[in-house]
Formats: sequence, C-alpha cells, structure tokens
Amino acid sequence: MNKIGIQGIQFDDKSSFQKGPKLAPPIIREILHCGSLNLCAENGISIDSPSIEDNGDFEITEYFDIEKITKKHLETNDKIFTLGGDHSIIFPVIKAYQSKYKKFDILQIDAHADLYNEYEGDPYSHACPFARIMENGFAARLVQVGIRTLNPHQKDQAKKFNVEIHQMKDYDLSLIPKFENPLYISLDMDGFDPAFAPGVSHHEPGGLSSRQVIDLIQSIETEVIGADIVEYNPNRDSQNMTAFLAAKMMKEMLVKMM
Ligand code: MN
Ligand code: MN
Repeated sequence: MNKIGIQGIQFDDKSSFQKGPKLAPPIIREILHCGSLNLCAENGISIDSPSIEDNGDFEITEYFDIEKITKKHLETNDKIFTLGGDHSIIFPVIKAYQSKYKKFDILQIDAHADLYNEYEGDPYSHACPFARIMENGFAARLVQVGIRTLNPHQKDQAKKFNVEIHQMKDYDLSLIPKFENPLYISLDMDGFDPAFAPGVSHHEPGGLSSRQVIDLIQSIETEVIGADIVEYNPNRDSQNMTAFLAAKMMKEMLVKMM
C-alpha cells in the first residue's frame, strides 16, 4: 500500500493579480470534514485510510522552502498530495519530486499555460512555473488541458518545450492521451469554468465543467505519483462552492494515488 502524505502550502507571494490562495488549505480541509459530504470518492473508496496521513499546513515566506518541505515529506511518504497556494508552488514541488522519481509525466488542468519565460520581471511568478519545469527537463511529457488564453509568446514556449496543449476550444476527452510513465496531476482551479469555480483570482470564461474534469481524472489508468490543487482563492468564492469542488477533486485524486 502506498503511503500518501498531505501537505498544505500557504503561499501566494507569486500571484500577479490578486492575493488569497495562501488561505486555501485549511478551508478545503474544513469543507472536507464539515459533515456535508462523506469521504468516499465516486468509486466508493474512502480517503479515511491508514495509508493517508495529513502533515498539516506550512506558512511559507521563502519560496524554495517549499522544495525543502516537500523533500522532507517525500522521505517518510511514497507520494505527496499538496494543497496550494498559487501555481508557483509547483516548480519547487516538482524539483523535490525529481530527487525521488526520475521519469514522470505531468497533466496540468488550467485556463493558462503558465509558460512565460518571466512575468513582470519574476521568473518564478505563478505565470511561469511550467517554463522552469520544462527547461530543467523535470517532466518527460507535459500535457495541458483546458487552456484558453494562449498568446504568441506562450505558443512559442510550448513549441520550444514540446508541450502538448489541448485547448478548451478543441476539448475532447477521447483525444487526451493515455500516459505511459508515472503521472503527476496539477489542478489549477481556474481550469474550471468560473460558473463552477468562482473562487479563483483569474475568471476566464469558457472553461471545463466539474463533470468533465472528474471524468478526465477517472479515465487515468497509469500510476499517479502525486497531485496538487492550486489557485483556490477563498476571497472570491461564493457560498464555498469552489471549496466544495476542491474537496471533491481532492478525494478523486487521492484515490487515484492509493
Ligand atoms: Mn496555473
Ligand atoms: Mn490558471
């Protein structure tokens, strides 16, 4: 049985537009245990399992402390599930993963490609992490789903790094590839349409439905070695509906890691 550690990374210093994602981890946990939902994913498997251990939340002031914390948790766990935080957290998380897993693919669900070489002078902005991951060769394959904000610069970057982009305008679940390597899943909550997930900093209409993302996760057949939920911004939420969606996605992704 895989030992899975949950870690909350409270950090939003690299958010370019609005702050708030650092508040997310304890709220998603609170919703998960509020009594409104049970702890089973749709396949009937419960995340209330001795194989899953919660390591708690970490308030981050130094960006690369995220790598140290993740590395430490990977010493005592086989896999880590991370609650962010803005999307910048994924670069140090993946950097830590590289010390344990040498070859893996990444599935990114997002409205944005996050491939800027730098954003407002910061190469570690939440608009840039996948450029850092790819230039370091940290992912054998990067598949992006839900993208609906490509500009010429990011198109060039995607070409340079061989990123496989499934734009929202062409979305078809049957066209998403089957992965062969172990897989890390990064779920940016703004990949959902803002009608399903208003609690994000960047409202980008025309996105994925809750059902489409659940179906995509459930269709994965390869081993899932890690996952995260990022960019939930409680300051923008309505009736906690984005927190409920995050809690549900957390269950669906955790059972894939078990
Ligand atoms: Mn993102
Ligand atoms: Mn995004």
